[in-house]
Amino acid sequence: MAELVFFSGTMDCGKSTLALQMDHNHRQRGRRGLIFTKLDRAGASTLSSRLGLSTDAIEVTDQLDFWDVVADERMAGRRVDYLICDEVQFFSPVQAEQLARVVDELGVDVFAFGITADFRTRLFPGSQRLIELADRVQVLQVEALCWCGARATHNARTINGVMVIEGEQVVVGDTDAGDTVGYEVLCRRHHMRRMTAYSQEALVRTAALAADALPFDLAACALPPRIS
Ligand SMILES: [Zn+2]
Repeated sequence: MAELVFFSGTMDCGKSTLALQMDHNHRQRGRRGLIFTKLDRAGASTLSSRLGLSTDAIEVTDQLDFWDVVADERMAGRRVDYLICDEVQFFSPVQAEQLARVVDELGVDVFAFGITADFRTRLFPGSQRLIELADRVQVLQVEALCWCGARATHNARTINGVMVIEGEQVVVGDTDAGDTVGYEVLCRRHHMRRMTAYSQEALVRTAALAADALPFDLAACALPPRIS
């Protein structure tokens, strides 16, 4: 029986690496699959992992219909045994429904990989629909870590280094205004307090400066001096 599996996790937890490994394992067994992604960090039509591996992929546009893609492949006489879908948080709820239909009616396994919640801690609509429809939701076991060492469970967006909690749900790359948009994983405590690694460094710098001005040993300072 074909399955719709949603592998979820924060950024930096190795989702794309697992997606590539999954494709490899199935190909080794003589199965044929199609790989999809959307807005990958390496650019259009590429599925890349932070460990440096990458492969060609079909770029998912808003108009793409998974049912049509699989049906067209089969009409052309090419087998499709499974789909690997990365960055599914950017897929639409309708596309999530198409994936479920491909599983049920065409007997194709769908392995979906994505983030569940955005930088405001709200579910992405595509991820929400996949959670609702998936046969299994598997939370990835490679844990990303917050700068404090705790398990990172939340995604933060920074603009020019400062954490923001408002804005468009999907922003990838720098803005037209020339602002640098970044993402960082945090534990919930530090997400709530808007304390990123960058803001922590600034705190440490301030503390080190204050400590320098006092006739006390630096060891008396609770925060270690910044090594630059
Ligand atoms: Zn933390």
